[in-house]
Amino acid sequence: MSENRPPPVVLIVEDNEMNRDMLSRRLQRKGYGILIAVDGGQGVEMAHANKPDLILMDMSLPVKDGWTATKELKQHPDTKHIPVIALTAHAMAGDRENALSAGCDDYDTKPIELPRLIEKITLLTWAL
Ligand code: MN
Repeated sequence: MSENRPPPVVLIVEDNEMNRDMLSRRLQRKGYGILIAVDGGQGVEMAHANKPDLILMDMSLPVKDGWTATKELKQHPDTKHIPVIALTAHAMAGDRENALSAGCDDYDTKPIELPRLIEKITLLTWAL
């Protein structure tokens, strides 16, 4: 992370409280700013309201699933530039393709391996 600019703000969209708390705590410890949404509808609202530097999007979400939420964000001129990393619980065949076709910029699977995830976050926020 560059020392001369503020740390990236990551919006975590995750309905599972334990995953949410774990992820936000560990990323905060690494210096990231964290915003939290608990379903896909709130995720879309918060992306518009706060313009985070990156979104970690669980795919299986109430109200609006991660694929739908990502498609909406990527179709809107105000939010389409925000990188989205899809997170899924299992590496199901086709999940990656579905995430990328919804407009996700990258994809990762749970359980989260933090070094690997941070590498992906860094790559997608580097140009900011
Ligand atoms: Mn979920």
